[in-house]
Amino acid sequence: MNKASLPENIYDIVIIGGGPAGLTAGLYASRANLKVLLLEGASSISQITVTDIIENYPGMPDGIGGFELIERFKRQALQFGLEIKTEDVSTVAKAVWGNTEGWKVTAGINHYDALAVILATGANWRKLGVRGEDNFLGKGVSFCATCDGPIFRNRDVLVVGGGDAAVQEAIFLTKFANKVTIVHRRDRLRATKALEKKALANNKIEFAWNSVVEEISGGNTVEKVIIRDVKSADVRREIPVQGVFIFVGLTPKTDLVRGIVDLDDAGYIKVDGEMRTSAKGIFAGGDCTKKLLRQVITACGDGATAAVSAQHYVEELKGESY
Ligand code: NAP
Repeated sequence: MNKASLPENIYDIVIIGGGPAGLTAGLYASRANLKVLLLEGASSISQITVTDIIENYPGMPDGIGGFELIERFKRQALQFGLEIKTEDVSTVAKAVWGNTEGWKVTAGINHYDALAVILATGANWRKLGVRGEDNFLGKGVSFCATCDGPIFRNRDVLVVGGGDAAVQEAIFLTKFANKVTIVHRRDRLRATKALEKKALANNKIEFAWNSVVEEISGGNTVEKVIIRDVKSADVRREIPVQGVFIFVGLTPKTDLVRGIVDLDDAGYIKVDGEMRTSAKGIFAGGDCTKKLLRQVITACGDGATAAVSAQHYVEELKGESY
């Protein structure tokens, strides 16, 4: 590599995403004495920051709030010199300087050159796609119990989904709501047994099994939801509620790199065991990647591996041994 041909302010690594994967990658890469920039989205937040309590992160026997955990990750990474900017990345494009290939990351009017990029963009909550869902967003429909739960003090709310998120958030909502009805399309939960046990024992939680939401309706705000029994298509029921919380899985935030790295059919980034993507110099980790388990602990593991892989890649490019 001819260092003279490189742009003056080039970064060794630019990390895109400020959740557990991105911040752990930032911690590891900064501790390796590399020049690292982390861009956290200005308009999107990491799911973890709106999670009330995380009970399965090792070393936290009393659980820890998602927001607090992220603040701790950030503080730790900053101590080792990680540079963090709050900007939405619009493009990632290949760059060539002399005989060296790298990447140009653009966020608004700013451009950042990097030898390697780590994608840790996470995932968004998936929508149901039913009538009323969009119209009542912010008027009773929510994807964030931590943000909106307190609004529903002594009200009746409905939670859609049967995974960890739905069950955990339903339990959280019982702190405020009068009654929480979990509507799930099957007759058994996908959530872990520990959460299931807590939900079944909570007398504020009711279940509508084998049911899907057909319509959310009301006046200025949500007043009721129509659910349909999936086993007998004609059986419908109206549930009067003031809030509807939707937790039916995730959609990866990977549009930014569509056509640059290989994605699976659902849009998740394909990575190998060293968190390398199909594009040279681009690594990825966390919820935006194809994987079995999407948890804080696995995102952190991915971030650490991606950082070390990127470090080896950068040092090889520079002709340094590691
Ligand atoms: P998930 O595990 O994919 O579960 C999605 C749930 O929504 C499933 O029960 C699914 O039903 C249901 N669903 C999907 N599409 C639907 C539709 N169109 N209509 C009705 N129901 C629908 O997603 P998640 O709960 O958001 O969790 C995502 C990841 O985050 C998981 O890896 C999870 O373990 C992790 N997470 C962990 C914790 C924790 O450890 N405390 C908390 C939150 C999230 P089926 O069951 O029939 O497929």
